[in-house]
Amino acid sequence: MPLRVVLLGPPASGKGTQGRRLAEAAGVAYLSTGALLREAVEELTPLGLQAKPILDRGGYLPDDLMCGILGEWLARHPDGWVLDGFPRSVPQAEFLERWLGDHDQALDRVIALDVPMEELLHRIQARVECPECRWSGQATQASGDRCPVCGSTVSRREDDDEENFRSRHAAYSRYTLPLVDFYDQRGLLSHQNATASADEVAGVIHRLFFPSAVSG
Ligand SMILES: [Zn+2]
Repeated sequence: MPLRVVLLGPPASGKGTQGRRLAEAAGVAYLSTGALLREAVEELTPLGLQAKPILDRGGYLPDDLMCGILGEWLARHPDGWVLDGFPRSVPQAEFLERWLGDHDQALDRVIALDVPMEELLHRIQARVECPECRWSGQATQASGDRCPVCGSTVSRREDDDEENFRSRHAAYSRYTLPLVDFYDQRGLLSHQNATASADEVAGVIHRLFFPSAVSG
């Protein structure tokens, strides 16, 4: 089925891990706008050059730029997806709603991953990313610094210092948190306590979409 899901949550709430797992289970595409932008920065593309100073200070890219990128991506993925990092603001959510309406598509569900600030700070200290396949997770998940997906050597994410994290968290609270109400009003929102282990959280999310599946 063409599942269409948006994941909301502060930085380090596990959107990447959960997004990948859900997309894989549902057989749909997964998009991390954060990974896409970091890759553009590393490859020095025009987008990357524009994004770098903004990402360096933990800020959000302009809505019109992000909506342009997403419009192109959505057009190439008509068979469903899990989005991590878009929409990040009410104007972006309105864009997505319009875009889907124009293309006879609809959002199935929005999952808000809830994690308290002190747990997020703890996670930020231990977070690593794979430079090859863009897997991102906790250092404990990467045995011997090896990416669990492709086996490349993982390293700490460049944007994971505490000051940058606090800036991103502030931007999240200001611009993204209003989306909880936005989607709640549309009857699309599920809250998910995401302080448990990645496996437990994945199990609960899985059962939202595949209720008959065996837990685990
Ligand atoms: Zn990898």
